[in-house]
Amino acid sequence: MRRAAFLAATAAACAVAPRRVRADDEFDPAMNAPTQSLRVLLGRGDAQPVPGGGFTFAGRAYRGTFTRTPGGRIVNDVSLEEYLYSVVPREMSPAWPQAALAAQAICARTYVLRRSDPRRDYDVVPSEVDQVYTGRSGESPAGRAAVDATAGAALRYGEAFAQIVYSSCCGGHTESSSDAWGGAPIPYLGGVACPYCTASPNYRWERTLALAEIAAHFATEIAPYGALQTVAIGMKDRSGRAKTIELRCERGSAFVGGSSFRLRVGPRTVPSVLIASIDPLDAANVRLQGGGLGHGVGLCQWGARGMALTGATPAQILAFYFPGTTIGHD
Ligand SMILES: [Zn+2]
Repeated sequence: MRRAAFLAATAAACAVAPRRVRADDEFDPAMNAPTQSLRVLLGRGDAQPVPGGGFTFAGRAYRGTFTRTPGGRIVNDVSLEEYLYSVVPREMSPAWPQAALAAQAICARTYVLRRSDPRRDYDVVPSEVDQVYTGRSGESPAGRAAVDATAGAALRYGEAFAQIVYSSCCGGHTESSSDAWGGAPIPYLGGVACPYCTASPNYRWERTLALAEIAAHFATEIAPYGALQTVAIGMKDRSGRAKTIELRCERGSAFVGGSSFRLRVGPRTVPSVLIASIDPLDAANVRLQGGGLGHGVGLCQWGARGMALTGATPAQILAFYFPGTTIGHD
């Protein structure tokens, strides 16, 4: 799940709502009856019903039914639990331990319960902007088992559904939501030291970047200062992530946000902003060393895997990464 989805969920403080449609001025976020069905915006194209149930769209089979919006887009009406059958194994390897998959299932379910909003034409999109969903084609027996084993379970902080964020590997310390994206601190998203994700191939990484490539990405920013000569870490936040990156040029330095640097250079080229060092390699290149993959806020998925391998339960995994939350059932 990406930043955009988190911000949208934060802005839509009303994200939990009964399924029935109400006029805007009647909308009451405190009415938080669980959503039992979900509308997934699939996009434009032709959908064909399948005898016996479900339908096909863009070469994939889906559960549930579909409607076509006035604008010609296909919306999949599917039960929340059947939606999760597809999401869980797409967001986490179905070969991972069952307790990790169960924790992922609870996270994915909670994300939707908090986000669903009857005032919109749909609840979620099927990509990483929300959660990856590909219908029946994404399902696996282990994913279905994790969903069934946690049926109805969602993460709460007090009475409200928790705001759920997750990413692949935190690199040793999860990030606070306020350091990552601003806004008021959220008690259960403050960041924790994570010793469980060391098996991730991205726990530690090293990259060589050409100065010319970096300069091309930040041509506007460095224009007043002349040619880019080297790159350095500016400020770090409490978890050690780079808040700013310094682009040192002939006649001064331009400073850019750590996340902007990562996203513009490429989120796979720079897997995270947990950058330990940036060193000149030669006149034309710098070497970055860092840890983790993704924004690092909330659940560390590789950490959930690591905890599960030590025998932790889904409840213990979620209590570790979202301290102060509890698991509630419908
Ligand atoms: Zn971790």
